[in-house]
Amino acid sequence: DSSSGSSGFASKGSFPGRVPAAIGRKRLRIVVTGGAGFVGSHLVDKLISRGEEVIVIDNFFTGRKDNLVHLFGNPRFELIRHDVVDPILLEVDQIYHLACPASPVHYKYNPTNVMGTLNMLGLAKRVGARFLLTSTSEVYGDPLEHPQKETYWGNVNPIGERSCYDEGKRTAETLAMDYNRGADVEVRIARIFNTYGPRMCLDDGRVVSNFVAQAIRKQPMTVYGDGKQTRSFQYVSDLVDGLVALMEGEHVGPFNLGNPGEFTMLELAEVVKETIDSSATIEFRPNTADDPHKRKPDISKAKELLNWEPKISLREGLPLMVNDFRSRILEGDEGRGL
Ligand code: NAD
Ligand code: UDP
Ligand code: UDP
Repeated sequence: DSSSGSSGFASKGSFPGRVPAAIGRKRLRIVVTGGAGFVGSHLVDKLISRGEEVIVIDNFFTGRKDNLVHLFGNPRFELIRHDVVDPILLEVDQIYHLACPASPVHYKYNPTNVMGTLNMLGLAKRVGARFLLTSTSEVYGDPLEHPQKETYWGNVNPIGERSCYDEGKRTAETLAMDYNRGADVEVRIARIFNTYGPRMCLDDGRVVSNFVAQAIRKQPMTVYGDGKQTRSFQYVSDLVDGLVALMEGEHVGPFNLGNPGEFTMLELAEVVKETIDSSATIEFRPNTADDPHKRKPDISKAKELLNWEPKISLREGLPLMVNDFRSRILEGDEGRGL
């Protein structure tokens, strides 16, 4: 059924000739929303390498065709420019829902978390697909429990500058659980902690991409606040392995997917300095509002139920993104799309 993987609004209801999900391990048809982005494009690579058929839905808000261009000739790959805030009809077995403006400078402007998630859940319900939500450690807000377990309900400011991301993802989790309970949609929820690697946006203001780009450009690394706030940084291939394990497993979650190695921003700057340029300097800047003081995942649940844990430490992972950043900076590509 070669025509069925494209978008269209022809008819609701069943699709004759549709192959049911993975009978006898048939090739799966998988949608990745946000698949032109940083995490999404690595996930797509993994799914394609496993022999699956992948449809990416992306509006290129922060994603880039460049991240997927190596797949354009592949008959198992399809790219649809579409905003998930608008409904879409497809027939698929699995939906990885990543589409979301994911950094503070971008996420203030967009209702994607609520409307996009609702549409993808509606799609999952209609075709009986399994749905995976990429939620975030931000649902824990400025946590009063440390490290954070999935049972922690969080400490989120509902009216602050970051709220539309935090609360948007919390609402997305609520919607996913409601569709799971009310409409029997098979749901999976990942709470992703800070992740880095090649293809990260150069200009979306996240700390690892900022420090690495600044060190390459011989600019001072901008440390916000006193630099003593902590984060736990996960290399992207570890996250992708965790997402696939979660999708394929039998547990709804939520599951923390992150690397428990915890670093202050000053320590991170030091590792970037060691990795890229021993003469790199730092410069202090005022911090942003509501910045969480610390964050570190408790990943016992994912270890036990998904048999997953990250393998790549910060010192191993950082060098793996430097070549990609160097060549994009040289090309003058600031990650704003082709
Ligand atoms: P990214 O910005 O690189 O990717 C997001 C992708 O979604 C982009 O390709 C963008 O163009 C697309 N997109 C945004 N709005 C859209 C819309 N309305 N319709 C269609 N496409 C749209 O970010 P990322 O780091 O790859 O994040 C992927 C997912 O993982 C996000 O849901 C994010 O919230 C989550 N997450 C990421 C991290 C991290 O550290 N990278 C941490 C926690 C959660
Ligand atoms: N939806 C979609 N694709 C589909 C099925 C639904 O985009 O294949 C959208 C639909 O337009 C609606 C949302 O998903 O906005 C929720 O759908 P659902 O059927 O759960 O709710 P209803 O349409 O009954 O309010
Ligand atoms: N940060 C920083 N310098 C930068 C960008 C960010 O010191 O150039 C800090 C920021 O204040 C926060 C931490 O790094 O405390 C992580 O920020 P990021 O936006 O990467 O992730 P999040 O806050 O969503 O965890």
